[in-house]
Amino acid sequence: MRVAVVTVGDELLAGDTVNTNATWLCERLTDRGVRVERVTTVPDRVADIARVVNEYRAEYDAVVITGGLGPTHDDVTMEGVAAAVGRTVEQHDEALEWLTTHGGYQAGDLVEGTTHLPSGARMLPNTEGVAPGAVVESVYVLPGVPTEMKAMFEAVEAEFSGERTYTEIVETPDPESSLIPVMDEVQAEFAVRVGSYPGESVRLKLSGTSEAEVGAAAEWLRERVSPMTDGG
Ligand code: ATP
Ligand code: MG
Repeated sequence: MRVAVVTVGDELLAGDTVNTNATWLCERLTDRGVRVERVTTVPDRVADIARVVNEYRAEYDAVVITGGLGPTHDDVTMEGVAAAVGRTVEQHDEALEWLTTHGGYQAGDLVEGTTHLPSGARMLPNTEGVAPGAVVESVYVLPGVPTEMKAMFEAVEAEFSGERTYTEIVETPDPESSLIPVMDEVQAEFAVRVGSYPGESVRLKLSGTSEAEVGAAAEWLRERVSPMTDGG
């Protein structure tokens, strides 16, 4: 399964909020064997949300979008998603019912718009907050508040699956340029992909769908690169 993650919020683009939702979702989805192929942040603007969601839902098996839920004027994600799938936003009876029976709210206390979702959407209750999420076509709309987002994602995560991948890291003080031949060779010899992450040392990340192949490739590689020495 291939998925795109979209995070919504002017505050993310301004650098006021660290985009921990994107990182958390990428990690969770990857652990499930899903390939996350895009992470995009868009402003709180209907047209931008609609454009990106529309493009990604055509391209990927699912889109996970967080932030900008709820009834305040700058929360426009439901509107953007609805526009992307050609639907209107309307009062969702099940969302209202959930909030009044499980959420402890009186219908009259809820701000107008709180229970408005794209028409025909599946409602996702917000067990940690107020604003409900939604699934419409292959688009999963989750809140921005991390605790709310995580709880809601966990309620639907079984719907995201793929072939599980295994990874191993081999770390070496060798310069990255000198590692190119050995990286090519390990990919030719074993059913693995290899990525290099240079820093003070180079971390070579091996990944593949066979745990045994990844383990053997890591062992093979460790015999061919300089080992790390304690204390540099
Ligand atoms: P609510 O359900 O409370 O209305 P919301 O879906 O409207 O939440 P936002 O208004 O977009 O969410 O953001 C609420 C708060 O959640 C932000 O102030 C920020 O602290 C946090 N937040 C939003 N997006 C992210 C993100 N991508 N990563 C980390 N934190 C985020
Ligand atoms: Mg909000």
